[in-house]
Amino acid sequence: MESKIVRSTLVELGRNLPFGIEAGGKRDRSFSFKEWHYRDETFVDEARMRCAKADLNDARFASELLAHFVTKWGPFDFGPLTQEERIVRLEASKVGDILTAWIWLRIDALGPEMPIRVICPACGSGIERVGDLHVVDVMYLPPDCSSKEASIVVNLPNGVPWVHKQKGPFMARKVLLEPAAWMGLASIRGGAGIEERIGAGLAASIRALDDEPVSLTGQALASLPKRDLMILTHALAERAIGPILEIHAECGAVQGKNPDGSPKTCPQVVRQLLTWSHNPFFMELPSSVISQAFETVAVNS
Ligand SMILES: [Zn+2]
Repeated sequence: MESKIVRSTLVELGRNLPFGIEAGGKRDRSFSFKEWHYRDETFVDEARMRCAKADLNDARFASELLAHFVTKWGPFDFGPLTQEERIVRLEASKVGDILTAWIWLRIDALGPEMPIRVICPACGSGIERVGDLHVVDVMYLPPDCSSKEASIVVNLPNGVPWVHKQKGPFMARKVLLEPAAWMGLASIRGGAGIEERIGAGLAASIRALDDEPVSLTGQALASLPKRDLMILTHALAERAIGPILEIHAECGAVQGKNPDGSPKTCPQVVRQLLTWSHNPFFMELPSSVISQAFETVAVNS
């Protein structure tokens, strides 16, 4: 079946969640924030300490921050809700929705410019470039599609090891994948290794085995055969709703002159993976953006 999921840029999608919050048979894709002020840093520091103390990871810290700044989330008015009630609603949302809101929060608080520090593969130049978060690609489910159209059924060659209530242990071949909820990531320990993270992400996307609804943990997938793991991760990547975490910019390094005397620049597009964890995502601005704000004071002696 042809996928209904559409690729767009963040700014083209506008201030809409790529999946949205399901309510009354519809998906409400709207959300809003309050402004981020200096006084909010106290909250940020306290939330960071809370998460570190409880061995909770970057994803849970992102939930804490969003819960503090979000005022409306789909059909939910966050005004009268406590921090914990807000976190529950956010963590039940899709990973792609949380990451999309996260990027908009960064744009609202700090602007869209992100530093790109890579060596240009064409000319070897390694100066800092500036990427624009507005043009991050986002995969989204159009508003006229039903939420089911974001799901996919995968038939595995070996299957997922599963202990069935009546039948006992066996391999389930038919797997229903749905966009994972943020909870699946936010529940991972702070110090979890890559294996645990991937397992938890995958388990959070598996909603049914052989047509029976399931709720798996990453641990349940420990003995998943490698070939099946490969097929499942590819199936998920193809149907992933949310931002593609990569920024790009033209290299632009000067490489001599054109025949008309204008500077000849390197046209190569350089790319860098976007690290969404609070540090560096909310802690960095390109140096060119900061220096633009400087003004030299004329000293008359
Ligand atoms: Zn270059």
